[in-house]
Amino acid sequence: MSAADAAILDWSIPEIARVVRSGEVSAEEIARHSLDRIEQRNGRLGAFLTVQGEQTIDAARDLDERRARGERLGPLAGVPIGIKDALCLEGSPATAGSKILTRAAQPGERDLDAYRGWRPPYDATVVARLRAAGALFPGKCNMDEFAMGSSTENSAFGPARNPWDPTRTPGGSSGGSAVAVASGMTPGSLGSDTGGSIRQPAAFTGTVGIKPTYGRVSRYGLVAFASSLDQVGPFAADVRGAARILGVIAGRDPHDATSLDAPVGAYEEACGRDVAGLRVGIPEEYFAAGTDPLVEASVRAAIRGLEGQGCTVRPVSLPHTHAAVATYYILATAECSSNLARFDGVRFGLRVDPKKDLNALYEATRGAGFGREVKRRIMLGTYVLSSGYYDAYYLRAQRVRTLIRRDFDEAFRDVDLIATPVSPVVAFRLGEKIDDPLAMYLADIDTLPASLAGLPALSVPCAPVLVPGAAAPLPVGLQLIGPALEEARLCAVAHAWEQISPARSLRPRFDA
Ligand code: GLN
Repeated sequence: MSAADAAILDWSIPEIARVVRSGEVSAEEIARHSLDRIEQRNGRLGAFLTVQGEQTIDAARDLDERRARGERLGPLAGVPIGIKDALCLEGSPATAGSKILTRAAQPGERDLDAYRGWRPPYDATVVARLRAAGALFPGKCNMDEFAMGSSTENSAFGPARNPWDPTRTPGGSSGGSAVAVASGMTPGSLGSDTGGSIRQPAAFTGTVGIKPTYGRVSRYGLVAFASSLDQVGPFAADVRGAARILGVIAGRDPHDATSLDAPVGAYEEACGRDVAGLRVGIPEEYFAAGTDPLVEASVRAAIRGLEGQGCTVRPVSLPHTHAAVATYYILATAECSSNLARFDGVRFGLRVDPKKDLNALYEATRGAGFGREVKRRIMLGTYVLSSGYYDAYYLRAQRVRTLIRRDFDEAFRDVDLIATPVSPVVAFRLGEKIDDPLAMYLADIDTLPASLAGLPALSVPCAPVLVPGAAAPLPVGLQLIGPALEEARLCAVAHAWEQISPARSLRPRFDA
């Protein structure tokens, strides 16, 4: 083993894979650094719900042995990747942030076992692809229950905290995955994005997060929230790292009928490509009242930066943007009310049985197992789907979804990509919005339209801002939205901006 120190976790993903593949640093050493950092930092930040030390060391040793035998390792050799707890990692508990996927302690089990998650007997396709590429999986990342939320405060296991300011949220729902990367516990992670759950936590933590085109990445093995919107995607400290992960997980999967058969793009190769001449559209609807002026200034400065790289910037209009929050919260709740029907105390996890009849079993299990926000959404979703209301809400929302998609089709006749803020605000304080669901929903305005349109979008850090009351400057994300399957173009532009971004290489400070 060489004597690389823990700072190797702050290297870019391609560099880590390179030194493992060449044998300069062993995968085992990297695995140990990652597990140490989790041990040091997770207690305060709540990024991981499950840590699997032994399995990770074993997998790393196996990689090192294979290399020693002359085998050529994959593009993520020895790279620790945190996995959102809504994704199946064979044999490791998956809770999706919910108590309902846990079971009560059986007689003779230790206390610790009381919150043992349901253990999936298979890998999600994305996990299997990362594994085949040589990635290591030190643990499962914290999240809002069933990915419903924007702050990770809806996790049944306590919130994740923002490493830039632990009194603030890292965003959500993939907050744990974002924190794992922002705090250097793992150089990459996977999240899922239904209405912003990769992009918004990436923005709040100063990391890069990509939501691929709907269907670009397999959903097989992802606990479903809203199936017409859910997509899995990567987090990394830089665009190149996120691009490498995306290249590994993207592509058709026979297990997911909605996965697309289109060729996988050259995402990493796009990093470094000249972006001069690309036309960037700026929709004024995304700079509406409610956007923090400091966030707006930071995003506009980034757009000027793109101009400096030879992009041409012009206004575009996305006139149905104002309807995105209402549309999303009808469709997403409708789909979740149906998807979550399977958690009934019979097939998975928790069972609370008052020993009366089957309905009493459902009621008691769901009553005890689901948290407040999940119950709220199941009720809303059931309402908008119920006879008499279906046409007025669900069907109408489907129609508005088409209008939102057409806005983008129209805009992409004139521009190659669209640039906006990821969120109208910076990371807010834990507790600030949790009792006001509407305020929480409204803050999703900038990420929902691309989700409803099924388009690829990413978040890349721009200049941090010092908001009143904050101890230090907080990260801001620039959102780039592209036409379907143009992830590579987004990577090229994000990478070009990253090279000149004032946020480049900024990391939160840790005393230990
Ligand atoms: N914040 C949005 C919601 O609560 C989006 C969540 C997500 O993308 N999973 O539904």
